[in-house]
Amino acid sequence: MQIARKLRKVSPSPTLAIDSKAKQLKASGIDIINFGAGEPDFDTPDYIKQAAITAIQAGYTKYTPASGSPELKEAVCEKLRRENGLDYTMKEIVISCGAKHSIYNIFQVLLNPGDEVLIPAPYWVTYPEAVKLAGGKPVIMKTTEKTGFKITAAALRRKINPKTRVLILNSPSNPTGAVYTEEDLRDIMKVAVAKKIHVLSDEIYEHLVYDGFRHVSPARVIPEAKAWTIVVNGVSKTFSMTGWRIGYTAGPEELVAGIGKLQSHSTSNPTSIAMKAAVAALTQPASALPEMKTAFRERRDFMLSKLGSLPGVSCLKPRGAFYVFPNVSGLLGKKYGDRTVTTSLQLAEYLLERARIAVVPGGGFGADEFIRISYATSMDNIKQGLARMAEALSKT
Ligand SMILES: *Cc1c(COP(=O)(O)O)cnc(C)c1O
Repeated sequence: MQIARKLRKVSPSPTLAIDSKAKQLKASGIDIINFGAGEPDFDTPDYIKQAAITAIQAGYTKYTPASGSPELKEAVCEKLRRENGLDYTMKEIVISCGAKHSIYNIFQVLLNPGDEVLIPAPYWVTYPEAVKLAGGKPVIMKTTEKTGFKITAAALRRKINPKTRVLILNSPSNPTGAVYTEEDLRDIMKVAVAKKIHVLSDEIYEHLVYDGFRHVSPARVIPEAKAWTIVVNGVSKTFSMTGWRIGYTAGPEELVAGIGKLQSHSTSNPTSIAMKAAVAALTQPASALPEMKTAFRERRDFMLSKLGSLPGVSCLKPRGAFYVFPNVSGLLGKKYGDRTVTTSLQLAEYLLERARIAVVPGGGFGADEFIRISYATSMDNIKQGLARMAEALSKT
């Protein structure tokens, strides 16, 4: 069969190899602890579910405007004002089927063939693929622990060329947990504004920040920033609503109108019922959030203390999201039994077989000397899984 050329350049999810192996082992009755989760292990709060049930019963089950219901756009404007100090009108908001969909659509609307998008690595696996699907060229900016996995304004300035159109920022970051401070962002936005490049700010983990760190949107750090910032957010992570598929974009009116047009011929509106649930999520107090945050922070601290005692492993303290991203370069090249482990994928495979834990190899995030371990799983699983990991790594 002939498949479109643009799809050939797109990599399938790099986590798939491990994931399918984990499922295979699980299906054969082997007890696997999964540290691959990219979603909270908490249930959607009841008051949010109830809003959806009420919507169904009231017959709110028909098409809405393709760009989303006015009620949810209003709730998003209010949220951005209240929580982020940002002033947007409804014409600058478009609702999509999850933040991932928002990101896909932004690149479809913004990019021409050959346009370049700067992506700091380690990056969320979807960014480069979404850029390629829009005909753009992902340009990776490597970061290391030395700068806390953050890009600097100076590095950004050096990397911008006439083809550069967009910089992606994801703070708190998946997979590193890095959080940009207001100062970091001010310096970066000065460069972006001067060079006239857009900054796509993926703020999906904004409420999952620890240790007194605070999420700040780059859109508000200097007066000119808002015009060049495209804010992407959604309800998936904050409200444990990954399956509901509601995300949104706040940005310049022309871009937002373009996304609305695209959606009118592709998805049409996001699900009417899920939008009602999202209205409840954004307008009522986020009462389940403090408990979730406390659990995440405790699990993170426990993980860091255990990982810290493993020879060959070092881990920068993540300040947000729900992942740790340890550097495992000290393990690569070692022999475990009769096998030599030279890449993060091989290490993940070894840990899956020997320790029966599933971790995500860093290669897919553009950082092969790392693995990602999610703490969106119970403390019991974490205790057991890390003990098994320590045992497996002692078998040299
Ligand atoms: C989970 C995630 C998203 C998207 O979530 P949706 O469920 O599509 O709203 C976006 N960016 C990052 C970095 C994520 O981890």
